[in-house]
Amino acid sequence: MEKITVELTKNPKQKPVGDLPFGKIFTDHMFVMEYEAGKGWFNPRIVPYGPFSMDPAGVVLHYGQEIFEGLKAYRSPNGEIRLFRPEQNYMRMNKSCERLSIPLLDVDFCVEATKQLVELDKDWVPSTPDSSLYIRPFIFANDVGLGVHAAKNYIFCIILAPSGPYYPEGLDPVKIMIEDEDVRAVRGGMGYAKTGGNYAASLRAGERALEKGYSQVLWLDGVERKYIEEVGAMNVFFKINGVIVTPVLQGSILDGITRKSCIQLLRHWGYTVEERLLSVDELMGAAADGTLEEAFGSGTAAVISPIGVLAYGDQVCQINNGDIGEVSQKLYDGLTAIQWGKAEDPFGWSVKVCD
Ligand SMILES: *Cc1c(COP(=O)(O)O)cnc(C)c1O
Repeated sequence: MEKITVELTKNPKQKPVGDLPFGKIFTDHMFVMEYEAGKGWFNPRIVPYGPFSMDPAGVVLHYGQEIFEGLKAYRSPNGEIRLFRPEQNYMRMNKSCERLSIPLLDVDFCVEATKQLVELDKDWVPSTPDSSLYIRPFIFANDVGLGVHAAKNYIFCIILAPSGPYYPEGLDPVKIMIEDEDVRAVRGGMGYAKTGGNYAASLRAGERALEKGYSQVLWLDGVERKYIEEVGAMNVFFKINGVIVTPVLQGSILDGITRKSCIQLLRHWGYTVEERLLSVDELMGAAADGTLEEAFGSGTAAVISPIGVLAYGDQVCQINNGDIGEVSQKLYDGLTAIQWGKAEDPFGWSVKVCD
């Protein structure tokens, strides 16, 4: 792969002070690389952060051929900057690319590009509690014209956003509504890919849930509308009768890196974790008879998001009296301690970028 060239900004931005929003402020630089059929990926470069110019007939605006990733850089107490399992994000990016007929990238090269960009903008990595540098790699088709086919030109870009905690109020349990009308994805579709279209499909239900006072929706499978899939943009876990249950990956659910890390940590701690089909009837039955002890979402942005209330039609159940469960808290503490370099990392998940 070519050497990454660097063009430094001539107008460094003012760094934010005080509370940071999530994903609204961007650093001084970005990574960009292009693809052309017959030529491959070329011209990897770090350049000043700035807009792309876009033709109104750009195919991505019409047919949505794009994918993205999300990870974070963390500042540890001794000032080091670290990433969490970055190779996993780029392996998953290639799975998304494959599904959307986007050319694949070299995983090691992408990790290296991420490290170089983060190191250059390292002064933007916040040191306030629970804050981090959110990293957003993405690829979009860059052909012009209204024909429907896989594009011949692409842009791969990485941008960085110093971000505060996803939930500034802290680990407060959220109210979730089980969606029985819209579906997010079906097997054979692109549910396992991190692509904008899946999010577009989810917006209407999300808005309706907000209107009813719920913060996110819990999706059911797209065929029978019977099995639990995931919650908003997070994977979901339940503790039923002492056993941790999470929906099995069958192509319609995103293979979350937080999800797989939770499963590994829980098993390491001696919990029984089942990846299996979980029907909404089984779940609501357990919620009604008190055997549903905890529920929580998992994802890079929020890490762990405890669920305090589950609603399905007219049935509204409180979980664990609306309080954070023991396992949810333990996972949040365990994962964040590894991510921020505050604890032993028995799995080698945390990767150092620089001091
Ligand atoms: C990104 C994402 C997740 C969480 O994945 P992580 O790798 O844990 O951040 C879960 N569901 C959806 C739909 C997502 O887009």
